Amino acid sequence: MTDLYSYEEALRALLTVVPSPETEEVPLEECRGRVLAEDISADIPIPPFDRSAMDGYAVHSADCVNSPVRLEVIATVAAGIEQLPVVKRGQAAQIMTGAPVPTGCDAVQMVEKTIRVENAVEILESVKPGENLARMGSEVGQGDIVLRRGRTIGSAEIGVLAGFGRTRPSVFKLPTVSILSTGDEIVDINEKPAFGQIRNSNAWMLQSQCRALGLPSQILPMVPDDLARTREAVETGLESDVLIFTGGVSMGERDYVHQAVKESPLKTVFHKVAIRPGKPVLLAAGPQKLVFGLPGNPVSAFVTFELFVRPAVRKWSGFERPFLPRVKATLRNELRQKPGRLFFRPGHLTCKNERLEITGITTMGSADLVGFSSANALILMPADVDCLPAGSQVVVLLLERFFLDGEDHEVDTH
Ligand code: AMP
Ligand code: MG
Repeated sequence: MTDLYSYEEALRALLTVVPSPETEEVPLEECRGRVLAEDISADIPIPPFDRSAMDGYAVHSADCVNSPVRLEVIATVAAGIEQLPVVKRGQAAQIMTGAPVPTGCDAVQMVEKTIRVENAVEILESVKPGENLARMGSEVGQGDIVLRRGRTIGSAEIGVLAGFGRTRPSVFKLPTVSILSTGDEIVDINEKPAFGQIRNSNAWMLQSQCRALGLPSQILPMVPDDLARTREAVETGLESDVLIFTGGVSMGERDYVHQAVKESPLKTVFHKVAIRPGKPVLLAAGPQKLVFGLPGNPVSAFVTFELFVRPAVRKWSGFERPFLPRVKATLRNELRQKPGRLFFRPGHLTCKNERLEITGITTMGSADLVGFSSANALILMPADVDCLPAGSQVVVLLLERFFLDGEDHEVDTH
């Protein structure tokens, strides 16, 4: 199949071949970045008891209607107390934030509105029933669903899971990835390249991109430009769920990846997509397997991973929204191109005065990873446009660097 797919067509085709995720139970400390595969219900109500929201005195609100009023202090209640005192009319208990409200009391007066006088307390202002306390179950009722299947797990979700004693929640499995570089010229990164040789930088970069998605991955031994060796590599690589080739995927005489994939039981989904960089980009699928052939040029490999591998493996990992976030930003410099293909250009996005602005980065092209590496976003330049003027609104995909770098923020210390 040699059809030239549009970006949208390629994504649509890709999403239809991604296998459904399986589930597994995983220790809580490994759940970060995963997707819940079950609804989580509360095994206890929250708060688990009527809880004081203030340091102060637990009272009968009816005793304080005509304040100031003096009440006998019969106990002190701190968080973690086991035996609650019974507070009768005319009495109060000193109470700490987070402590259970004693039996009989229906309100807490904050310490600032009281005066302690030996074994008594002067309540200076009246309190309404329920004031300054959180009723048992007022936040979450026992049995309520607190997290739904499909929720991505961040730190807050870890806290919620921990709060309900869920030490091994069910999450979607992550596909395993093998990374395979091809090319007679490719040498190990520990070697000093001889004339005509290139270090295997892509494998390391792609593995890092897999790590950013939490995926277990391995780098397989490099494969020369040889059909038989490439065939073997497809077989070995498919011990993983996902196999990513880099290099050897174009239509050149010595590009054997597509040929080897065609001879395997896998079906080619697309081989050419009308984008820049990365026109040759291969996807093949089989039962519970995906094979990607990314271009060898480092910038193309990086970009096509983000555009195609990311949504596929994210969906396979259970993510409901598998794509890079897209925003609109104001372009700061004019960008030109020869029209023809949708161009994903490196850019540097800033958040000046809470407004998104983007500057296109000039690089020496798809091989120039050093020039590309400072990009924190990709600017979409439509295929039929030869110029995006400065000041225009452009669509931008956020890259990991945007979050790695963070923002400078002037802090007013006065
Ligand atoms: P190819 O896609 O095989 O035609 O390779 C295109 C360009 O990318 C060539 O200049 C290669 O040297 C370079 N290249 C291919 N594989 C890698 C790799 N693993 N790491 C770095 N550069 C590569
Ligand atoms: Mg090659």
